[in-house]
Amino acid sequence: MDRERRNEVSRRDFLWRTTSGAAVLGVGALAAQAWAEQAAPAGDAAQSTARKPILPHGKLGRTGYPVTLVSFGGILLKGSVGTRVLQLAIDRGINLVHTSASYGGGASVAAFGELFKAAPAYREKVFLCLKSLRPEKESEIDDMLRALGVENADAVLTELHSPDPKRVDAIRRQQDALKKKGKVRHTGFVCHGDMNDVLELVLDQHKDYFDVALLAMKLVPNPANRDKAAADEAGQRFLANLKALRKAGVGILSMKSGAKEAVKKGAAVYGPHIKAYLEAGADSMLTSMDTLDQVDMVTRLELRNPHLTPDERRAAAEFHDSQAGTCRMCAACKKACPQGLPVNDLMRFRMYDVDYGLHEHARTEYESLGVDFRQAASRCGDCTACASVCPVNLAGPTTVRDTAIALG
Ligand code: SF4
Ligand code: SF4
Repeated sequence: MDRERRNEVSRRDFLWRTTSGAAVLGVGALAAQAWAEQAAPAGDAAQSTARKPILPHGKLGRTGYPVTLVSFGGILLKGSVGTRVLQLAIDRGINLVHTSASYGGGASVAAFGELFKAAPAYREKVFLCLKSLRPEKESEIDDMLRALGVENADAVLTELHSPDPKRVDAIRRQQDALKKKGKVRHTGFVCHGDMNDVLELVLDQHKDYFDVALLAMKLVPNPANRDKAAADEAGQRFLANLKALRKAGVGILSMKSGAKEAVKKGAAVYGPHIKAYLEAGADSMLTSMDTLDQVDMVTRLELRNPHLTPDERRAAAEFHDSQAGTCRMCAACKKACPQGLPVNDLMRFRMYDVDYGLHEHARTEYESLGVDFRQAASRCGDCTACASVCPVNLAGPTTVRDTAIALG
């Protein structure tokens, strides 16, 4: 970014952060006209953005899209401030954005919609990914497109958390229909469940079908010993699966790597962290941001050389170690439970609640699962099957019971 543009953006950021500046910019109302005036015209400008991003970029698998190495996760967005954060991210060159109707009870989609409706040129500057929870419900994507004020999305990423062939069939029917109707351009799935088994099912039977995968990256081993035999079996399996997906042409978006925490710690942590996950196989790191300062930091990072220096590898390894107690999303607890409880889902909701501070989101997800964990926990008795297989000492009857009480 040249100095003049940096200065211009810095001044605007400064104005935004100050009370008087907010008044000057009229951000209390966030007038639609103001969005429109700041947006570049659609058409040629939008296409050239896609052709040559201003930020370091790679290629999103067989979509061929020149995705920026940092992409925008919308789970934290709400209100006009959220819209402003999204706008700055796009202004700074981030060219892939993701949202879902489930985020913030619809607040995220509303914040995206506020920008896209007022200034449609912003839609043209990004690869828009929408998460789908229910492939059998056709109105789900229609409702989101309407709320966003857009005609289509670039990719639909439907939840696929267990290696269930029937679920994949339902997803394929959903996505074929959406493509036929011109509502989405590319197929995709999202997984934060039984990671390796799902990826192996996709690789075995559907690798030519899915264009994009949004994957929880908790199984990526520590970058300090990634290639050594000391690294765990599940982690090595995951790295091999990522490599095979990439080879098959599936674009990889990283999530739940700890990026949100890394962003809060600043460039010295987030920079090495993103490089470590690009090295592991991601094409772009989906990063949840909800402040202008965070957008400012991630878009100023020097990522033209994505290789880790020895110091950066040490910093990435240290941050990786600091996340050691968090759920790896291996699903071993679910597979071990004699009651057939989705313990891994419960632990993920706990992560939203305790680690991310997304209390409302955690409760919404818990309710939508429709499992009475409080009652189930009362039947655990002497069982410690989930505890005995959990690699991070997280799952166990006490955690299950306490989490059920907290979210129920
Ligand atoms: S302790 Fe309870 S939740 Fe854990 S495996 Fe046993 S029955 Fe399932
Ligand atoms: S709670 Fe433990 S066993 Fe269950 S998915 Fe997470 S890391 Fe794996």
